[in-house]
Amino acid sequence: MSGSVYKHQCPDCGHAVRVRNSTGLSALVRACYLQCSNLGCGATFKATYEITHRLSPPATPNPSIHLPMADWAMLRSASRETTDNQLDFDELLQPNHSVQS
Ligand SMILES: [Zn+2]
Repeated sequence: MSGSVYKHQCPDCGHAVRVRNSTGLSALVRACYLQCSNLGCGATFKATYEITHRLSPPATPNPSIHLPMADWAMLRSASRETTDNQLDFDELLQPNHSVQS
């Protein structure tokens, strides 16, 4: 099995879930289809990921996008939770993103 591994856990068995495919709903929202990595479970899910805040200002802002800046507590939480194993959201949020099996 291949695909991006997100830190989200299967709500049924607790194993990691993989993003199998995603569809852009808007510039800030994607619908993602997830699959449990436990072959003995096999559960699949639909999730929605939304960009809700800016952690840093862009060099070339899109004038049609209006996002609040994160407060200090959000920035602190983001720096604590960043790891190499976390899903690459830049890849996930590209138009027509698809993860092949
Ligand atoms: Zn599972």
